[in-house]
Amino acid sequence: MNIEKKILLLPGDGIGPEVVDSAKQVLLKIEKEFNLRYKFDTALIGGCAIEEAQNPLPTETLKKALNSDAVLLGAVGGPKWDNLPSDQRPERGLLKIRSELGLFANFRPALLSKSLVSASSMRPEIVSDLDILIIRELTGGLYFGEPRGRSKDQNKAFNTMIYSKEEILRIGRVGFDAAKKRGCKLCSVDKANVLEVSAFWREVMNDLSKEYPEVELTHMLVDNAAMQLVREPKQFDVIVTGNIFGDILSDISAMLTGSIGMLPSASLNQTNKGLFEPVHGSAPDITGLSKANPLATIASAAMMLKYSFNQLEAAIAIDKAIENVLEAGYRTADISDVSSIVLSTEEMTQEVLKHIKK
Ligand code: NAD
Repeated sequence: MNIEKKILLLPGDGIGPEVVDSAKQVLLKIEKEFNLRYKFDTALIGGCAIEEAQNPLPTETLKKALNSDAVLLGAVGGPKWDNLPSDQRPERGLLKIRSELGLFANFRPALLSKSLVSASSMRPEIVSDLDILIIRELTGGLYFGEPRGRSKDQNKAFNTMIYSKEEILRIGRVGFDAAKKRGCKLCSVDKANVLEVSAFWREVMNDLSKEYPEVELTHMLVDNAAMQLVREPKQFDVIVTGNIFGDILSDISAMLTGSIGMLPSASLNQTNKGLFEPVHGSAPDITGLSKANPLATIASAAMMLKYSFNQLEAAIAIDKAIENVLEAGYRTADISDVSSIVLSTEEMTQEVLKHIKK
């Protein structure tokens, strides 16, 4: 008997509810097709939570998130809340839930199927069949290091880039484990020629590599990595890096694939519990028009099955369904070209559902 998995849905703002509803429909189909059991609950986060509960992450939402096996999020934010002070904005809810769940490992795959090559601004031979994974450390480094702030005379500002051995080992292991399941190539990105913290990062990664003789570990300086990602991205399999470098590199790799509506992400904690979400935001310009591309959120649901539930067959079935729908020429407006059949959010969801098979 399959153990029931508790999934908390956090639709959020803008197109969030539209794309989360699509992913839920896909999960319901998967449940039937693969004889699995999911129990769904829904809660508020972001702007809608500010409206209802005057808090971007209500206690009730956090409680439900802590009690669930995984969280699937749409997006938060929108013009209505843009003028709030930064500590009260919708994005605060997202930062808080990530830290409360201890989500230290952020997975950002950049995949480009043949049928979508024309959506990329890069030459086809550079990006066709691209399949790389960037793993970013999410709870340490420059964004969280202390001390931070302004000098007393207000004439200086400073942040601290700090990584402990435990933090590097923890994210390093995630990188090696992921590489082991893919092409066995791990590139650790740092700035070891200038930063002591990076030299230490490199030292710890080299020591750790002795536990993973089957994985080939290489190192690359972050400036070179940014260049190589654009010049010859297919040389990479898995990249593991710290918080700020990962923030920048994962956005570069996102653009290789051309469309923000196609990019899923996962953030995991030590027990593989995770928060899964599309990379895109709440897209206020298309909210309510049924133009949202649901594929990034559907692919995020596939990552949930793969990384949090270990339901690999079901995850592959979702990825294949997406691939088949694209091959058949179906597109939402954001990824369409002259030869494609342009579908609404709901029509695209129905096409994916038709292609889900055991
Ligand atoms: P955005 O990603 O929402 O939109 C950028 C452009 O991409 C828009 O033209 C939009 O229509 C399009 N787009 C995005 N997702 C799409 C999809 N699934 N299908 C089709 N087109 C899509 O970024 P933005 O406009 O800079 O931000 C809008 C709001 O979202 C802001 O309030 C921002 O703070 C928030 N935001 C939230 C998250 C998150 O929740 N993780 C991430 C980024 C931005």
